[in-house]
This record gives sequence, C-alpha cells and structure tokens, in this order.
Amino acid sequence: MRRNLGIKMEAALLEQERSNSLSVEEGMGTCNACKQCAPLGACVVFKGIEGALPMLHGSQGCATYIRRYLISHFREPVDIASSNFSEETTIFGGNRNFNSGINNIISQYHPQVITIASTCLSETIGEDIHRLIFEYKSIHEVNKDLPEMIFASTPSYQGTHYEGFHEAVCAVVKALAKGDKKFGSHINLFSNFISPEDIRHLKEIVSDFSINAMVFPDYSDTLDGVSWRTYQRIPEGGTRVSALKKSALASFSVELGYILNAVCKNGRIKTRSLSQSAGEYLQTKFNVNLCRTGLPVGIRETDKFFQLLSSISDRSIPLKYERQRGRLIDLYIDGHKYVSGKKTIIYGEEDLVVALASFAAEIGIKLLLCATGGESGKLESTLRDVLGDMYSNETIVGQGMTFEQMEGVVTKSGIQPDLMIGNSKGYYIARKLRVPLIRVGFPIHDRIGAAHNKLLAYEGTTLLFEQIVNALLESKQRRSSVGYKYM
Ligand code: SF4
Repeated sequence: MRRNLGIKMEAALLEQERSNSLSVEEGMGTCNACKQCAPLGACVVFKGIEGALPMLHGSQGCATYIRRYLISHFREPVDIASSNFSEETTIFGGNRNFNSGINNIISQYHPQVITIASTCLSETIGEDIHRLIFEYKSIHEVNKDLPEMIFASTPSYQGTHYEGFHEAVCAVVKALAKGDKKFGSHINLFSNFISPEDIRHLKEIVSDFSINAMVFPDYSDTLDGVSWRTYQRIPEGGTRVSALKKSALASFSVELGYILNAVCKNGRIKTRSLSQSAGEYLQTKFNVNLCRTGLPVGIRETDKFFQLLSSISDRSIPLKYERQRGRLIDLYIDGHKYVSGKKTIIYGEEDLVVALASFAAEIGIKLLLCATGGESGKLESTLRDVLGDMYSNETIVGQGMTFEQMEGVVTKSGIQPDLMIGNSKGYYIARKLRVPLIRVGFPIHDRIGAAHNKLLAYEGTTLLFEQIVNALLESKQRRSSVGYKYM
C-alpha cells in the first residue's frame, strides 16, 4: 500500500508541476489524513445547544474515539451516547438499540434535546434514522415531555469533521426554526468551528454594537466550563432552543466562512444534502437576509467583519475596536522586519486556511503550501478571491491532503519553510524540519489551553502575530552558535 502511495504521490507531484494545485486521486490510500471524522464535527455543534445530549447511531468505538479527541483538546468531560452496534445489529438493523439508547438517555440525562449523528456503519447499512425517530415518537406520543430529537447525516466517507460540523448546524436549524413572517430585530451569527474563547469574543463584539445576536453553536461554557463540586451530566450553557426556533424570524444571518459545506467538486459528496448551509436554508425557506464574510483574522478580514456589523447595526465602530486596530497596526510596524519574506506552510479546515493565509500574506509571509483535508474544490479559487493581488501563483494549494503528502511536497520542492501554522497533527513534520509550529485550530493535543486560543478580530490577530514573531526569534536564538540577547 505504501509503495502504491509513493507512485500516486509521484503522479500528484507531476500534476503539481503543471498546475500548482494538488488533490487526492480517487481510490488512493490515505495515511495520516489532514482531517477528522464527520460525526466528531457534529458532536462539537451538539455540545453548543443548551440541554443537549449527543448520541451516535453506530458502534461504541466511534463514540469512544470522538470523546477521546474532544476531551484531549478541550480538557473537559464530554458525554456522548452510542447505540452500540453489534454484529447482529449490523446485519438486521439498529432499531432496537436505537430505542433502548434513547430510553436510557431520557431516564439518565433528562435532556431538552437529543442530537443524533449517523456513523459510517449505520449509513453503510442504510439505516433510516428519520424513520427511527418518527417511530419512537409515535410509540411514546403519550409522553408529552419527550425531548426534541434532531438528526444529522454524517458518514465520514463522504466528508470531513468540517462538513460534519456544518451539516449539524444546518440540521439543527432545519429541525427547530419556525417562522410566521414577523421579522425581529435580532440576527443569527453562525460562528463556524472556533475556540470557546473566540465565541466569547464574538459575543462581546456584537454586544458592543448593541446587536441582539443568536450565536450558534455556542459551546463557550459547555466545552470550557468552571470547576464543579459535583459532576454535571449536561453542563450549563449553549444556544437556547427557543433562540434557535426564532432563527427563522431574524433580520439577518451572518455566516463566518466562505466555503463552509460547499459541494465537492469531484462529485463524491453529491449524493448528500451537504450543499446547503444554515444561512442558505433560512434565506431560501424564510427569506432571512444572508451575509457571509470570512473568519476575521488579520486586518483586512477583520475590517470586513466590523464594517458588516456597523452596517447591520447602523452604528459606527466602537472606539475600543478602533484602538485595538491601531495597536495591531503599530505592532505590525514593530515586528515586520522579523516576519517579512519568511516562508510558511498553513494547513487545517478550509476556511481557517483562507483566514490564516490572508493574514500571513498581509504581514509579508510567503505561502509555500496551503493544505487541507477538505475536498470542496473551492480552496484555491477562494484563496485567489480573498488574497487578491497578494496571491502568488507559486503557492501550492493542496486539497484532500494527508500529512504524508504535505511532507512529500516540502521534500520534493527542496524549499525549507521557516514555520508551520496549523494543528498538533503536523507536529512531526515541524520537528523533522526543525521549524516552529504555531498551534491553531483543531486538534491541539500536545499543549494545554486550546479552548483559550484567541485568534479572531484585532485582539486575536495581535496574539497570533506576537506568537509568530516570538517563535521565529526563539528559533533563531536556538540555531545561533553565539546566541542573541538583543534582537
Ligand atoms: S467508523 Fe467512521 S464514524 Fe466511526 S470513528 Fe471511524 S470514521 Fe468516524
């Protein structure tokens, strides 16, 4: 298999020489993918709903893997129920396990909402989970206190954790939003896969514009809570179900991210309903205005976000943020000599890569490779649009990439980067190349504090810029035979 991968890699690299844009070929083996599984993304969204308990319809191993991944990133307990498929369930169907799983969740957790994601196994055997929910509700209709039950279809072979995340956002809105054509003064802010600290920061920003916003998903407390005296089975916090129901009555939906869950170019995802985002659904079904902008990282993308909030609220940008912007520009001036002309590899979820690339380009860092495990087919065109004349045709854009391929690109090109920006999974490449890794995104398993990573807006960019400059200085000090005390 490895030999085969090597041959395919050669082919991919030849193709790269022609177009500078890489993608995984159909049927190619995958080693160390630059992505996670789709229900994992869905579970993050489910943790952002008040009173919700996630359940996976599939085998126990899927829930265990996802819990392990989320716990070691967020450093919080994460309960995820499972319908525990066995050999028999796999052959004859999982309705009995589904029903007993729901019964156990209701009796032990008393949730407001049970959020259900499918797994590779339940999708492969063709489980009709909408029907299972319908039948369960029909049998138990005498129980008026049944929780809401929401289903997101998330087979991992048709999408990454990023698509699973957006599929879940849309599924929740589709299940709960109700409208009667009287638009309110509130907005929906679909905040994308960001850290709990960034969710808090976004809430602070919209509040400073006096905007009444439903931020979804809001896992800022559920995945980054306080210390408890007694264990809480469902932690406090999350977007309220009542607010989600009113999302159809909002005056605007704001979505952060240009790509979100776009349809895959090569057609692999065409069989799914993944092409629609929550904002697009609300626009089509309830006429809620949709505004989309990128994740606000760097001056240019943050300016766009603040201009949007200013026009929605009809208020000028608060002085507090003008000052933060001014301090960030001053910092750029102070630090430009350390970053200008440096070369980097950026990888992660597509919209995060776009945001980080835009920031890196505006501070003069050259983009050697922009890589993602996603396969929307939109990364390169979005980078060109967002970066404009800062985009370089020399940048290699890799979609559907593995970490092995990323390493292969560096080896083949013979160009040594000065740093890498991405999640912990790329650490071994950074270690081999002896360059600093700036940890952003998901997962961050080899450091603590991932939940507190502030990346967004002027303040988040300030922290990121300082982190990058200091990592480069540290690297230079380590490599120097004499060392520097003053740089
Ligand atoms: S089997 Fe599929 S859903 Fe389960 S952990 Fe693996 S990739 Fe995820």
